[in-house]
Amino acid sequence: MLFRVLVDTYERLEATTSRLEMADILAEFFREAEPEVLRKAIYLTQGQLYPDFYPQKLGMADKLLLRTLAFVTGMKESAIQELQLKEGDLGVVAERIFQGKRQTTLFSEPLTFQRVYSALERVSVSEGGGSQDAKMKQLAEVLNDASPVEAKYISRIVTGKMRLGVAAMTVIDALAIAFATKEERDSVERAFNISSDLGMVAEVLTRSGLEGVKNIHVTVGNPIRVMLAERMSSPVDILERMGGSCAFEYKYDGVRVQAHIGGGKVTLYSRRLEDLTGQFPDVVRSLSAAFKGTTAIMEGECVPVDLNTGEFLPFQEVSHRRGRKHGLEEAMEDYPVRLCLFDLLFLDGQDMTEAPYLRRRSALQSCVETSEGVRLSEMRVLDDENGVQAFFMEALRDGCEGLMAKSIGTESQYRAGNRGFLWIKYKKEYRSEMNDTVDLVVVGAFAGRGRRKGFYGALLMATYNETEDRFETVSKLGSGFDDAMLAELPPRLERHRVPERHHLVSSNIQADFWFEPGLVLEVLGAEITVSPTHTAAFGKLRKDAGLAIRFPRFTGKVRDDKGPREATTSEELLLMYGRQLKKVDE
Ligand code: AMP
Repeated sequence: MLFRVLVDTYERLEATTSRLEMADILAEFFREAEPEVLRKAIYLTQGQLYPDFYPQKLGMADKLLLRTLAFVTGMKESAIQELQLKEGDLGVVAERIFQGKRQTTLFSEPLTFQRVYSALERVSVSEGGGSQDAKMKQLAEVLNDASPVEAKYISRIVTGKMRLGVAAMTVIDALAIAFATKEERDSVERAFNISSDLGMVAEVLTRSGLEGVKNIHVTVGNPIRVMLAERMSSPVDILERMGGSCAFEYKYDGVRVQAHIGGGKVTLYSRRLEDLTGQFPDVVRSLSAAFKGTTAIMEGECVPVDLNTGEFLPFQEVSHRRGRKHGLEEAMEDYPVRLCLFDLLFLDGQDMTEAPYLRRRSALQSCVETSEGVRLSEMRVLDDENGVQAFFMEALRDGCEGLMAKSIGTESQYRAGNRGFLWIKYKKEYRSEMNDTVDLVVVGAFAGRGRRKGFYGALLMATYNETEDRFETVSKLGSGFDDAMLAELPPRLERHRVPERHHLVSSNIQADFWFEPGLVLEVLGAEITVSPTHTAAFGKLRKDAGLAIRFPRFTGKVRDDKGPREATTSEELLLMYGRQLKKVDE
């Protein structure tokens, strides 16, 4: 097939915004194309050479394409760059400058689809020293024979910006129009949702018909498109929607992974189906040790844990620190990542996606031996509003975003690639960003773990309540201390040591060591949140909660110039909270 045929289709697609029309245009092309071409053309239509989850990517930088265009047309790079600034789209720029291009080869052959695709494959595999030049050479070779409009789409494909607005669901519509009936569309969509490979589904459909498509099964190594949740903001509404009772799980604030285990290998995919395995060697290790079966696909949320405070950390914080003072190994030791598993989609050769929630959950429980690194999500089946509220507060206390409600009815399958009311997120959270430092008083400490053994691992920090002359806890502070400061803390705090909680301190937390309020440290946090655990401004905002500073870090400044009663007051914290409040209710 000539590449021109695909390009004509793209031109027609670009001229419309109607999804129905797009599906008809694509269907017309699909009927003409051979199965092998069809598969590849579908990837190209998405600006890719392969499905999302393949590690090889085209993704050429604009700059390199620009150089190649300059090389092929003999124009100055700066002139092309100027055009790019004006047009914003290198595809259109390529088309324009190709219109004025002189014929450089004597016999220019029309481009075949296969020739373009193979050249792009070579562009994508060129790696290492001199790879930029190699990529440029491969691309220049096809561009030399390209017409202006072909140059436009080749340029768009290599940069991955197709600008056609063709969504995967439109391609599925088109496949159904070309090769199946309307009713059979669901089978095609399901095959895509469990394989994440639209090109493969299309090829199977043209070669073996709908029977072939129905034979596409969940397979280890082929990521499944993830199931997503709707949102609601009241436990009463959620319970009603779920038929009176349902399962509630902690909603962890981390990175979702889909783990594929088989053949002695663990592969981790992101929510967007990219391979994340290399980023989490610790998760791979702990999951291999925890899994008792032979093959499985599981889902969970990865969350870094601060060993010294026992609290979860946000990923941004950890990666930030990894790049700085700590090396990767040390960071892995200080902030190990825990995987909180919440679903099982495949087990020992069996597709579990069609089993109801509670069956999947109990199978998950029996095939995993939990450990420090691998846990099951906290879960409770509840049927009353108060129970849900209490569980929600527990989730916040444990550093989670809220709850995930999950249907336990007979229809509660794992709906790959779908967002629906079988899962409902409940994140009614009040958060306030912090952009000022506070001065907090040390009132307690916790024994260090890991590399902090023998030192204090974290300090219990408080604000000052002026009205009642009390010190109210607000945070466990474990970050921002360098080795020198860690060594300095015990002697510095020694003179404040008391055998039990000081009578001026209000705390619901049991510390390992207690201090008379004395030492003041400057602290920067990420946000102020409502917390059932901490006592600062307790009852001021909600009758059953106080305020906490999340993700606090010592700035390095010891406020020797301040006495404990000159520290930040609980009232000030309440004001700060009110000033920055953005009510997140999603
Ligand atoms: P959102 O990103 O706000 O739409 O919420 C959905 C995300 O919550 C999922 O994609 C998961 O990454 C995450 N999550 C955390 N805990 C759970 C859980 N127990 N069950 C399902 N998803 C969870």
